[in-house]
Amino acid sequence: MGTRWSTKSTAEHILEQAKAGVMKLKAASIDPHLVVVLVGDDPASHVYVRHKVAACEELGIRSTKIALPADVAADALLSEVMRLNRDASVHGILVQMPLPKHIDCDAVIRAIDPDKDVDGFHPINVGRLALGQPGLFPCTPMGVMALLKQTVTDLSGRRALVIGRSAIVGKPMAHLLLHANCTVTVSHSRTVDHQAVCREADIVIVAVGRPGLVDGGWLKPGSWVVDVGINEIKDPALAEKLLDGKRLDRFRATGRALVGDVNYRSALDVAELVTPVPGGVGKLTIAQLMLNTVTATELQR
Ligand code: NAP
Repeated sequence: MGTRWSTKSTAEHILEQAKAGVMKLKAASIDPHLVVVLVGDDPASHVYVRHKVAACEELGIRSTKIALPADVAADALLSEVMRLNRDASVHGILVQMPLPKHIDCDAVIRAIDPDKDVDGFHPINVGRLALGQPGLFPCTPMGVMALLKQTVTDLSGRRALVIGRSAIVGKPMAHLLLHANCTVTVSHSRTVDHQAVCREADIVIVAVGRPGLVDGGWLKPGSWVVDVGINEIKDPALAEKLLDGKRLDRFRATGRALVGDVNYRSALDVAELVTPVPGGVGKLTIAQLMLNTVTATELQR
């Protein structure tokens, strides 16, 4: 029987590093400043931005939220990003995704100054990560690496599987694991026989967006499982399969629940460590955003 892999102390450790950085910068009369640009009315995006602004407040990082209407012209958004690039009092720029369909996300990401790109999505930062050079890298994979490194100092030779190949989680995760000398496999929607691939892995990182996709039966006994997925479920049959105890009671009362990409209950029967959802990787992501803002500020000194 495995155990719940708490991310709390790793998130606290990342926040302590960020806080120390903020104090050092403030002692040098530099006031780290993150600007979050929010386009439209997506409720989830509003929640994420609120959490980011609150985390800044807690750490003494100045934050500004710029809210633009859903029908903002693509050129107007690009002009806003350019203005923020030029503003020396702004150290980090984050454009909250997803953007409305009429806006080319890649063009917006490319417009951000790479040294202010706290999300680490700019092609320059993607290249720096691939080449093992210093830069700003995506918050979720960076947070997951901090969790792994706090659990074991040397990851050399471990077999790591990343399920999902997105630009924001899967691919950067694979690069970071490779730099830590893991033997890395990346699987995706076209992978044949996921279970066989999974059973080889000492470390499994799942970032897919499919509730409960990875079942305990897929896993190697004693493996470590990081569940990045966040999915809202409303299907009672799925809830009965994935939830138990108080969480199932709450689902029955509300008709909805947040779950990961891993069937947590069955995974715990086989794996040694499994991160929970909610309350797992999300904490790491937000802490790492704070540290990235400090790093961005230092890059601009
Ligand atoms: P994404 O861009 O939609 O990418 C999903 C990836 O999963 C794709 O590479 C896709 O393969 C693969 N995939 C889809 N169905 C699959 C299947 N049945 N078997 C294996 N692979 C499959 O998603 P994302 O942005 O990486 O996010 C993934 C999940 O993580 C979402 O639930 C998201 O909400 C969550 N997330 C959480 C945090 C956090 O802080 N906790 C941060 C970011 C994302 P193809 O490439 O072949 O299409």
